[in-house]
Order: sequence, then C-alpha cells, then structure tokens
Amino acid sequence: MDPEEYRKAAYASIDYIVDYYKTITERQVVSDVQPGYLRRLLPSEMPEEPESWDDIQKDFDSKIVPGLTHWQSPNFLAFFPGNTSFPSILGELYSAAFSAPAFNWICSPAVTELETIVLDWLAKQMGLPSEFLSDGEGGGVIQGSASEAVVTTMVAARDRYLRDAIASKYLTEEEKEAAIAAARGKLVAFASDQTHSSTQKAALIAGVKFIAIKTYPGDDYALTGDSLTKALKEAEDKGLLPFFLTASLGTTAICAVDKFVEIGEAMKDYPHTWKHIDAAYSGAALICPEFQHYLAGVEFFDSFDMNMHKWLLVNFDASCLYVRKRRHLTDALSITPSYLRNEASDSGLVIDYRDWQIPLGRRFRSLKIWFVMRTYGAKGMQEHIRKTLGIGVHFTKLIQSRPDLFSIVTPPRFGLSVFQIVPSNSDESAGDLTKRVADRINNGKVLFLTTSAVDGKMCIRVVTGSPWATDKAMTQAFDYILAISEEERKK
Ligand code: PLP
Repeated sequence: MDPEEYRKAAYASIDYIVDYYKTITERQVVSDVQPGYLRRLLPSEMPEEPESWDDIQKDFDSKIVPGLTHWQSPNFLAFFPGNTSFPSILGELYSAAFSAPAFNWICSPAVTELETIVLDWLAKQMGLPSEFLSDGEGGGVIQGSASEAVVTTMVAARDRYLRDAIASKYLTEEEKEAAIAAARGKLVAFASDQTHSSTQKAALIAGVKFIAIKTYPGDDYALTGDSLTKALKEAEDKGLLPFFLTASLGTTAICAVDKFVEIGEAMKDYPHTWKHIDAAYSGAALICPEFQHYLAGVEFFDSFDMNMHKWLLVNFDASCLYVRKRRHLTDALSITPSYLRNEASDSGLVIDYRDWQIPLGRRFRSLKIWFVMRTYGAKGMQEHIRKTLGIGVHFTKLIQSRPDLFSIVTPPRFGLSVFQIVPSNSDESAGDLTKRVADRINNGKVLFLTTSAVDGKMCIRVVTGSPWATDKAMTQAFDYILAISEEERKK
C-alpha cells in the first residue's frame, strides 16, 4: 500500500466507521454466527499474491463485521461497558502511525512524558491522595488490563515482603536466602469472595496461596475489618504469611464496595502486607466529586487501579495503575542488561516505564487518553458518567415499579441493577425462572445481558455505560425484559 493508496483507504475506513456509529442502534447487538463460521469463509493458507484494499475491505464488511458483538450499542447491557469514543479512536490511529515499543524514555520521550502527565491529571481529577502523584515518591502507569495490574503489584508485593519482613531479620546472605526460600511457600494473598477472579489468577501466576474471605448480605457483600481480622488470624495460625490483599471499589457481580477504613485499621499491624484497591469499573465515577467519599481509607493502601477502558470513554486498553512508592515496582521489576542502558536512564532524571510492568515493550496509550481528556474536558467526562448513571437509575425505577414480577437482590450502584424474576407459584425457584428468562433474552439477540450467582441465587445484571445509551432505549429494553418475564412465568 503506497501513501496515496493509504490516503484513499483511510478516508474510506473513516467513512465506514462514521456510518457504523450512525447505524449502531439498528444493529443486532449479538452476532448470529455459529462457532467456527470464519474458518469456513476464509482460505486455509495466507494469500500468496498481494490483494487490493477494495477486496480486503469487502471481506471485512461481509465476513468479519457479521461476527462482531456491538459493545457500544445501547442494547449491550452485559458484563461492564467497554467504551470507546471518536477522540480515542483517533488516538489509536496516531499511536499506530508512530508505532514504537517505547520501553525506555529515550525510545520516544513524548510517549513516557505524556503518560506521566495524563495519569497525574486523572489522579487529581479522581481525588486520589497526592502520594499517588509522580512529583513525590509515587506515580501512575498504564497497564494493559486490571488483571495485569494486579499481577504486577503482587510481584512487587512479594519482593517487598520477602525483603522487608523476612530477609531483614538475618545478617548473612546465606541466612537471608534460606529464610526467603522457606517463606516463599507460605505466602498467601487475600481478597473477598466477591473480588474479581484476576486476584486469584495473579496468585496462581505468582505461585502463592489464595484465600477468599466470605462476605455477607448484611454487609452488602463488602469485605469488613472483622472478617479480615479473623481470616488473617486463621491463616497465621496455620503458619501462612499474609503478604497481599485486594480490596474492591465496585465488585464485578454486584458492585460491592469493601470497607476501606476498617480494612486499613485491621491491617495496621501488617505494615509489610501490600494493600491494593481494584476499582476497575466503578473507579470511573470518582471523576465526579460526589463519588469521592468512596475513597475514604485509601490512605491505607499501596496501590489503586481503574480501567478507563471500561466506562471512561477510552477504548481498550487503558488500565491506570497508581502506586504510593514507585520504587516498590522498580525494585522488583528492574533488570538492566547492557543493551537497555543509556545516558538518559543512567542519569536518573527520566522514567523508564518498562520497570513498572511485566512486558518490555509498550504502546503509546496515553495519546488516546489525552485526546479524550482534551476533547471532552473534565466537564464532558463527568456528564457522560452522570448521564449513564441516570439511565441506570431510570432502569432501576422501572424494575421497582413491578414488585410483583421483579425483586432487586442487591442495592443498585454505579448504574448496575441486579434482580430476580419472582415466580407466581412455589413450583419453580426464582433462580431457575431468572435463568430461563435470561437465556431466552440472550437467545433472542435483541439485548445482551449477563447473569451472576449472588450467594447461590441466580440473578440478572443490567448495566449500561455506553455513550450511545438513552433513557428511551433503556425503556424499550425494560419493556422487552418485562414481556419475556411475564411469558416465561406463565409457562
Ligand atoms: N476487576 C473488576 C472489578 C472487574 O469487573 C474486571 C473485569 O470486568 C476486572 C478486574 C478485570 O479487568 P481486565 O479485563 O482489565 O483485566
């Protein structure tokens, strides 16, 4: 593709994208394709000869797009949102154009410096304590996902714990090594039973034990100081070493918020245990001052992570991880062979983000964040959060208007409603009926929603954070859910 062919293809692609968004509300949210459909449509070998862009674009339209799920559609009510926006798409375009695996500052100084600046902007906008800003000992770094962020912090936590809580008690290198080797097999990470599975997966990857602490409906499924204290004691009685804890601001199934202040108090005698906040979805709401009270207790925590790529208008991937002390990441993750050394890095005046993450190379992700922040401004981003929250409240009210048919299972939070269908007789459980309704809705492909089991109860979760969502679309979604629920209940 030469520059002029590129110009033509790129203009046509932009037109395609604009037309896509203009028709997004009319598209069936979930694809009709069957597993393996694409293998039947594409050749089994890569093309021998170059092909024209026109042919490729035609195949993209006729073979790939039919197999897409439309996450930006107002009828996408599943999981959590996975927003994008036009400025974010432009950021990706430029990022691809100036492609650089910018692992060190010198690889492309603007890539590193813009990242530091936009993450400081975001931290200030969310009301994070100043210790998490880059002008002190802390700072932010963009990770690929919240899962990657928790693995990264867990590795740093393991390193810090083994050094500060274990090795520091011994004098000789030999003694230190023996103590570290003995301690490794006893390390345990904690989270609540509502915490996203990424913490358990991180423990698996880090080769440490994992304990999920039970939560209760009376506490709104939040992890409390008392439950944590009990779990810590039980683990220590078994000789285990608590080195890591994830607390959640907005769990996946029900958006529960753990009791940060109580957790901080309970962990006062555990200075070497790393405390991490996972605010992957709900953290986006913190850009509005009225939600910043959720941060009470954050001063007890070592790290905080939120995904702009869920609800905050930036397309995947943009997980914003903040640490109170950046040296805890760099101590654990910095290895500098001679080919990675350079004057700027050796001077200590620059950040090399490769030392704050697992991979070496990294994408220019701050550009899309910068474009979104400048195009929307804080006001526009807050408007998006408040608008979509309002649509969530609108849906909850519709559900509450039919207590004979729907029962709310957990308090609606951050735009998420969790409910069951009420059976008309005792022959069927609410869980079975709810599952039947959810399956029928998803099979119909008019809406896409997810279910989750809360304390063994099967529930439907509905959430929208799409910039394309409206009250009207949500009312239509409710009418559809209502009609199917009534029909299924009569069966
Ligand atoms: N934490 C929470 C609360 C989530 O809901 C999710 C995903 O939905 C994750 C972590 C994992 O996010 P990611 O896909 O960025 O790893």
